[in-house]
Amino acid sequence: MNYLNFYSLLREKNSDKFRTLSSKKLYSYNNFIYNFLFIIDGKMLMVKKNPFFFKSKKVSKEFNKFNLSFISNIGNNLFILCYTNSIKEKKISFLKDYDLFNIKDTLSNLEKNIASIVSAGYSLYKWQCNNKYCGKCGSLNKFEENGNSLLCTNNSCKKKIFPTVYPTIIVNIINKDKILLARNLSWKNNLYSCLAGFCEQNESAEDAVRREVYEEVGLELEKINYKYSQYWPYSSNLMLGYEARVASKRSKIKINKKEIEKAKWFSSEEIKRLSKQKKILLPRKEAIAYSLISDWLKKN
Ligand SMILES: [Zn+2]
Repeated sequence: MNYLNFYSLLREKNSDKFRTLSSKKLYSYNNFIYNFLFIIDGKMLMVKKNPFFFKSKKVSKEFNKFNLSFISNIGNNLFILCYTNSIKEKKISFLKDYDLFNIKDTLSNLEKNIASIVSAGYSLYKWQCNNKYCGKCGSLNKFEENGNSLLCTNNSCKKKIFPTVYPTIIVNIINKDKILLARNLSWKNNLYSCLAGFCEQNESAEDAVRREVYEEVGLELEKINYKYSQYWPYSSNLMLGYEARVASKRSKIKINKKEIEKAKWFSSEEIKRLSKQKKILLPRKEAIAYSLISDWLKKN
């Protein structure tokens, strides 16, 4: 597989121990190195095209201006998300010389281990920003311990909230010696990829595969087999990758024009030739869609 399973690459045995520690304890070690990753108003602090990690043996008072969350550790290095949406970064002395970048534009160019930390930090950031208030009673939420869970501040509610992951499916559909590649209405250029969609409530992932494919291109499937998964940090989706075959004698495509611009059957030779000629654009190499397609190309 070529794709990046960002976070899981770096999960060490120690991480869970740190994640459940109280903030007071986590931020008062003197034999560890703290590596702070800064996200300010949704953008990441970088230097020379790399994320800037502020290294320190202690957590100074200046960090009180930020929300801190433990991300992961590599040995004695603790990686801490450090974010704010409310103060100007220029006011903080050690941040003056760095630039802010959109994470989406930079993540795929980073070295895998670093990308993994940034991806996990960004996911925590987004989840916390989207859960300022309790969904049950509307009171303010506060960080519990070191930021990996939130707790409603209303004493009669006290709802606890954990980081959210949304299951989605993506499927490579095979019909004899061809696969189906499609273009979503919102995609730029000539990008073609596998069909994908969210799992709905009360539905298995396999049911979601069947439903999405029928809704989008009117095909019925059989032999739906799970292959592998990938976490996608921008949307907190856990993409579950499948391969499936079209039910016999039902390969006529009926496009749902509200969602899909084009959908066609492609042979292995066509995909290789058209992508070489840049007439179609395949998904980026780190995406699970690329792995599903290239796995099939290697066998056909
Ligand atoms: Zn509440």
